[in-house]
Amino acid sequence: MEKRDYYEVLGVSRDATEEEIKKAYRRLAMQYHPDRNPGDKEAEEKFKEVAEAYEVLRDPEKRRRYDLYGHEGLKAGAAGFGGFEFDLADALRIFMSEGFTGFADLFGFGREEGRPSKARGSDLQIRLKLTLEEIARGTRKTLKVRKYVVCPECGGSGAPRGARPRVCPVCHGSGQVRQVTRSLFGQFVNISTCHHCGGEGQVLDELCRRCGGDGRVQDEVLLEVEIPAGVAEGNYITLRGQGNAGPRGGPAGDAVVVIEEAKHPIFTRSGDDVVLDLPISFPQAALGTEVEIPTLDGRAVLEIRPGTQPGKVLRLRGKGIPHLNGYGRGDLLVRIHVWVPTTLTHEERQLLEKLAQGPNIKPPGADKKSFFEKVKDAIRG
Ligand SMILES: [Zn+2]
Ligand SMILES: [Zn+2]
Repeated sequence: MEKRDYYEVLGVSRDATEEEIKKAYRRLAMQYHPDRNPGDKEAEEKFKEVAEAYEVLRDPEKRRRYDLYGHEGLKAGAAGFGGFEFDLADALRIFMSEGFTGFADLFGFGREEGRPSKARGSDLQIRLKLTLEEIARGTRKTLKVRKYVVCPECGGSGAPRGARPRVCPVCHGSGQVRQVTRSLFGQFVNISTCHHCGGEGQVLDELCRRCGGDGRVQDEVLLEVEIPAGVAEGNYITLRGQGNAGPRGGPAGDAVVVIEEAKHPIFTRSGDDVVLDLPISFPQAALGTEVEIPTLDGRAVLEIRPGTQPGKVLRLRGKGIPHLNGYGRGDLLVRIHVWVPTTLTHEERQLLEKLAQGPNIKPPGADKKSFFEKVKDAIRG
């Protein structure tokens, strides 16, 4: 749809003053307000259109850009300007920012339709423990949770079947009360939530027996959650509108799934790398060998070179955890430990004693000066 000229929308001239623009907006916004035109899509479009025009023309910088470049000048990406998309919530926010607290406020009467916004249900926090294998692959889980759901008896209204809530006699449906206070500095208008109806703008004479008027009940439900590969402890996934239902038909909160990492029996995570501690025997370390090792996705064969020292870390590229925000994966780091036997058979002892005489068995430098003498030298400086 072609966007209309903002001045034309508000019916003002291009050199209109701020005051003229404000007056034109107020008149049109009242005329097209959705509360006054329930279910009228055309009026809603007009209401959004005038709000958008007003949002631009009341702001000197935006108005200057619009005067220079037209609608193009306000698009996202235009230099130094974020651009904006308009929806009904924005239009209502602008309407409110003009000092109106609601449509009833303008005309001084209560409303049946278009009640003040209702309290939102609370968020639900769910802790989800995942194994490293699940984290590496990504997974889908079905979670059983206990939460508030809309009362099946009254459908959330809190009133018994057939009974309708009544407009609050105190605030006349606006959900707010105004109090005028006089002081040295003049008059203050204080707007606060109506205590009679709790800000909902309506009251119930009879309560639903199932939920006691709350409009919701506790129930056990199943939630599906998709976990991408590469998440980490403390990451969370928000399921919009899957939290607790709001009281009396209010919008539901979110379900927030917080990831916990289960301790793995053999792997330790280090960022997106995974560390495996691998014990090998002295002969394996000295002679070299091939060993089969576990990885997060099956087995792999690792080559140990002859003369591998304890503490040596061998890297298997791409065998770690996938990067959550990007391509590729971490590595599998295999840390070599050399196992020293703690008990020996008679034959093993004899062989080792014989081996100990070999010219290559002692660590380098061990013959020249004793280790303890070197330490003493170091202390003396
Ligand atoms: Zn109920
Ligand atoms: Zn009230």
